[in-house]
Amino acid sequence: MATTLITNIGELFTSDPEGPLTIAGAALVVDGTQVAWVGRAAEAPDADELVDVGGRAVIPGFVDSHSHLVFAGDRAEEFAARMAGTPYAAGGIRTTVAATRAATDEQLTSHVARLVAEMRCQGTTTVEIKSGYGLTVHDEARSLAVARQFTEETTYLGAHVVPGGTTPEEYVALVTGPMLDAAKEHARWIDVFCERGAFDADQARAILAAGEAAGLRGRLHANQLTYGDGVRLAAELGLVAVDHCTYLSDADVAALRDSGTIATLLPGVEFSTKQPYPDTRRLLDAGVDVALASDCNPGSCFTSSIPLCIALAVREMGMTPAEAVHAATYVGARALDRDDVGALVPGRRADLVVLDAPSHLHLAYRPGVPLVAATWVGGRPV
Ligand SMILES: [Zn+2]
Repeated sequence: MATTLITNIGELFTSDPEGPLTIAGAALVVDGTQVAWVGRAAEAPDADELVDVGGRAVIPGFVDSHSHLVFAGDRAEEFAARMAGTPYAAGGIRTTVAATRAATDEQLTSHVARLVAEMRCQGTTTVEIKSGYGLTVHDEARSLAVARQFTEETTYLGAHVVPGGTTPEEYVALVTGPMLDAAKEHARWIDVFCERGAFDADQARAILAAGEAAGLRGRLHANQLTYGDGVRLAAELGLVAVDHCTYLSDADVAALRDSGTIATLLPGVEFSTKQPYPDTRRLLDAGVDVALASDCNPGSCFTSSIPLCIALAVREMGMTPAEAVHAATYVGARALDRDDVGALVPGRRADLVVLDAPSHLHLAYRPGVPLVAATWVGGRPV
């Protein structure tokens, strides 16, 4: 395996909680697909190839632990109406379900490919993809099979919303029975939209238990639109992460702290639904780990941009730029129970982003500007 020395790095953002978070005047050695060495450029070992990045910053590739990329159709009109004052409700999902069922596998696959490419151009190197717009046995299974072509981090979200023509009881029986049987071979995770208008905590508990019995690991959408029991359920079950966390009581925050469950915040959703942003300072000060993800989906947040999420987290949610980048890399990886990506330390995969900027601060300082000069996956530029 050839080694590559990436040098003249103005600032290396390692995202390593145990080492220096940033190194000025840095270099990094890639051996095959992995990081072999990081440190000061002046102390770098020799390598077979040399790449001079001209003083640019290098950060880990983003780990986007929450997205819904398998869908068809467009809800731009609904977005425009929302900006004009119509409130967001969970039921809008059904519009996308109809379009997704009508799409061919090839159409769904090419649409996901386009969105994954869009993410990569913005620095995302690991992405989780959920189903949840099929809501039949056939359409959930094929949505996950499409997602699996792009990532190992696939999540069965049959419990996104109760589709028309069935009762909640009948639908939960389907989600925990035949649909789960068809979905499980294509999925690593199972998720439930635990929210008013979707599924309550008792239903979520039953669905996650069935998923676990089938070998899937649980995640939850919770406390997005109002206070509720979902976050405390996630903590009680010891889930690795619970996502949204917009409306949190003191008891919710304490439960997250005690369980070690990561709160994955999705600020693109608050931006696109005109909801209040979650208070990240309150979580971090309480000792809760916070991840940032895109929630890229056609209804509540159609952005694939982690840099936008970082800028929002800094501007609106009280995070420092370093906390926000750490949340979108190292903690995002932990939210997927991954220790092979999300940081630039020896032994991890050499997934990295060269920024057209001297430091990570520019991700928040220059919102909306395409700052990704290059994205590397597994030790090679892509
Ligand atoms: Zn979501």
